[in-house]
Amino acid sequence: MKYVLVTGGVVSGLGKGVTASSIGVVLKACGLRVTSIKIDPYLNTDAGTMSPFEHGEVFVLDDGGEVDLDLGNYERFLDVRLTRDNNITTGKIYQIHSVICSHFASLFLRRNEKEIILERLFRQVVPHITDAIKDWIESVSAIPVDGKVGPADVCVIELGGTVGDIESMPFIEALRQLFFSTGPDNFCLIHVSLVPVLGVVGEQKTKPTQHSVRELRALGLTPHFLACRSAQPLLENTKQKLSQFCHVPAANILNIHDVPNIWHVPLLLRNQNAHEAILKQLALLRVARPPNLQ
Ligand code: ADP
Repeated sequence: MKYVLVTGGVVSGLGKGVTASSIGVVLKACGLRVTSIKIDPYLNTDAGTMSPFEHGEVFVLDDGGEVDLDLGNYERFLDVRLTRDNNITTGKIYQIHSVICSHFASLFLRRNEKEIILERLFRQVVPHITDAIKDWIESVSAIPVDGKVGPADVCVIELGGTVGDIESMPFIEALRQLFFSTGPDNFCLIHVSLVPVLGVVGEQKTKPTQHSVRELRALGLTPHFLACRSAQPLLENTKQKLSQFCHVPAANILNIHDVPNIWHVPLLLRNQNAHEAILKQLALLRVARPPNLQ
């Protein structure tokens, strides 16, 4: 399985979901089968347990799972049918973990071996929670969601929230380990960031992106691509600056400026040949065909 991880920096609501879905669309248009996983690092088990005033509307999947609206984008953009397991939350991970722990505890209690309980139930975020996250990703990404038989070629994983949030740390660590174990040809990290223009200065500012990439690299993840959200297309010197200070080749800096309709975003990516660069990173250039997008 090849993984495309989409993270976000600087502010929330940047368009990670739209970017991740659009990347899925261009890869699918190149003849690949794509599935997706959305990670929401909150403690609730799902979006249905939250006040709609806090979270906004939920999207209801075919299996009744109440999830973030991003999963609706994935279903519409990729023409797939996702399940509640395609949405991982901290609450779900801790829930399965506590079920396993209480099962162990009941086994040991029957034998009345208190020391063993303490020894065996010594559970930590690393490695027990991070292992549970990796296992979840590996098993769910292998489930076909497009009505065909066998696992998809690529799984697009969107990490919700903003890099540096305390609640997403176990997920970042699990994804770092996943990257290390799958190897560089099977993993592509796309960091979505903001390039604002200060009204008075009128200049595209790269510093927020530089800081968020530094934060990501401090956590052991180096982005292969930057997807820059901005009001207007990026200027050439802004790209050069981002490339130099963020350690990402200029050709891998994607421009996702504001568009009147989010269905334009896959075309924006295709017009920048993003599919070629992503396929190259995933060592899939030979098996893919030119994208068939209208
Ligand atoms: P996130 O996943 O980062 O929270 P979303 O993908 O849900 O963000 O997008 C947040 C909002 O921004 C949505 O209303 C979406 O339609 C809009 N949006 C995303 N990308 C663009 C774009 N390139 N141009 C205009 N609006 C966009």
